[in-house]
Amino acid sequence: MRFNPVLDKLTPYKAGPSLAEIRERYGLDQMALMSANEIPWGPFPEVVDALKAAVEGLNRYPDAQCGALRTLLAERLKVPQGQLSFGNGSCELLMLLGHALLGPQRHAVIPHPSFVLYRSIASSLGGPFTAVPLKDLGHDLEAMAAEVRSDTSLLIICNPNNPTGSYVEPSRIRTLLAEVPEDMVVLLDEAYGEFVTSPDREDTAAWISEHPNLVILRTFSKIYGLAGLRLGYAIADPQVVSALDKIRQPFNVDSLAQVAALESLKHPERLVERRDVIATERIRVAKRLAEMGISSHPTQANFLLVDVTGLDMPGPEVPQALLTMGVLIRSGYSMDCPGWIRVTIGEAREGDLFLEAMERLRRGKVRLEVGDIKDAPDADFLSPAS
Ligand code: PMP
Repeated sequence: MRFNPVLDKLTPYKAGPSLAEIRERYGLDQMALMSANEIPWGPFPEVVDALKAAVEGLNRYPDAQCGALRTLLAERLKVPQGQLSFGNGSCELLMLLGHALLGPQRHAVIPHPSFVLYRSIASSLGGPFTAVPLKDLGHDLEAMAAEVRSDTSLLIICNPNNPTGSYVEPSRIRTLLAEVPEDMVVLLDEAYGEFVTSPDREDTAAWISEHPNLVILRTFSKIYGLAGLRLGYAIADPQVVSALDKIRQPFNVDSLAQVAALESLKHPERLVERRDVIATERIRVAKRLAEMGISSHPTQANFLLVDVTGLDMPGPEVPQALLTMGVLIRSGYSMDCPGWIRVTIGEAREGDLFLEAMERLRRGKVRLEVGDIKDAPDADFLSPAS
């Protein structure tokens, strides 16, 4: 069949074993799902009620403009309604922006290592891109700006960065915006922005009117506990919003997702509670690891990058060893962060399970059987794109 040749460069999603299979294989009573940067809590209780009430209307197509959600979100963000675009997860908006901006003659500048989708979108559209290495595990904005060429149409900043958790100070982003061409889009992916507690945190949405080439992406998947419903949004100049309107499906956001997001926005105090719990927990886990002599990278997100090079076990085997103890994390080896693992931070119960497992590894108490390595499910398959 005459497939697009670009497909030769891409690899499909590999489905992994179910959690039930893993539980049975290792005889586990408890598991900690710390691999996909989800939060351990579901939607707010009021959201669950609103969803139940909305199910009856599912015979109708959703509101193509996300009208009610648009009105409340615009009010909350203090932006005009025309500066918002909604998507089936922020992943969809990333792809749509790729389609709107990239192509064989359109270059992108992306950070590396960062969210895997940036690379795959640029590659799938056949566009040239430059992956600029992180400096000390954080964005090297100066090096990124230096890679901007006359055909560059997109530069991506992931803040906080997945998988390192590193945070780019807003003042540095403003400096970059002032330096780069005004017709090149700077995409600021703030999928984990709600977890930031740094005192210099700024209201980036307010920058759009001054910088029409800035596009901010946010999601309801993370702190709102709605990853299963798929709703992300872009805050952008109306020119970008109408470009996205040209290429999106008219009903790209399900009605239940709209209901859930709308109700979620009515409970900002619950969001603050969750942020505080995660911020306390990430400090606690990092501190306990440091007491064991294990270092981690400072994070502003709901995950922590942990150095596994000092353990009594080859780094690539650590994710499998943790899996045998019921702890699912993400291996740095598959994300170009060799020697590290990425651990999602959530409840203290999960944090304790992880810390106990790390303590056992540190003391050399865990040995993998050959079969564990050879036949074991690859923990990464459980969360390939997260
Ligand atoms: N951006 C980043 C940096 C992410 O890590 C993720 C998901 N893991 C997304 C965007 C996409 O999130 P969603 O499609 O669920 O909104």
